[in-house]
Amino acid sequence: MARYTGPACRLCRREGVKLYLKGERCYGPKCAIDRRGYAPGQHGQMRRKLSEYGIQLREKQKAKRIYGVLEQQFKIYFEEASRQKGVTGENLLRLLECRLDNVVYRLGFAKSRAQARQLVRHGHFEVNGKKVDIPSYQVKPGNVIAVREKSRSLEIFKEMAELGKGRVVPEWLSVNYDTLTGEVLRYPNREDIDVPIQEQLIVELYSK
Ligand code: SF4
Repeated sequence: MARYTGPACRLCRREGVKLYLKGERCYGPKCAIDRRGYAPGQHGQMRRKLSEYGIQLREKQKAKRIYGVLEQQFKIYFEEASRQKGVTGENLLRLLECRLDNVVYRLGFAKSRAQARQLVRHGHFEVNGKKVDIPSYQVKPGNVIAVREKSRSLEIFKEMAELGKGRVVPEWLSVNYDTLTGEVLRYPNREDIDVPIQEQLIVELYSK
């Protein structure tokens, strides 16, 4: 399936919650969920009662949309999560959270996950001193993520460094905006992951 390239706000309206896909706009008065908090399309304002399957499906779609992951890749994450020890739903969220593009976003080096994905793809980051341009790259505790030397003078990173000062990053990460580097201190727990997802519903969907 091709990547969705339509309006991001439409995805939030479909899910009925803010997915924070557009950076600053999501926090301002122009947010489409605040202005038109009903589903898009001709029948968007009609009340619909979702089936159990429908509820589970929406939860999976929400997770895919938040992290910008396509169907096939999401399924691979789920299979990997089921193979790991522990609670499958939490493993799934941890795998998604440890994607390099997500970590770049969490560290405050990009305004949204979509922008983070593009910056990673364009080769602006390194992990432990080596260039990594794969957004799905899985980071591990001890990894140091840095904006590459030649990219540090770019306007976007100067702006992010300025915006970042005073920002609180999740406890499993640390960041230094002077050197534009961040470190993964540990794997995130469920409490560290503030996405509005009931992962158990996704597990139930795939277990059918
Ligand atoms: Fe979603 Fe952000 Fe658009 Fe609001 S502004 S609807 S949170 S993408």
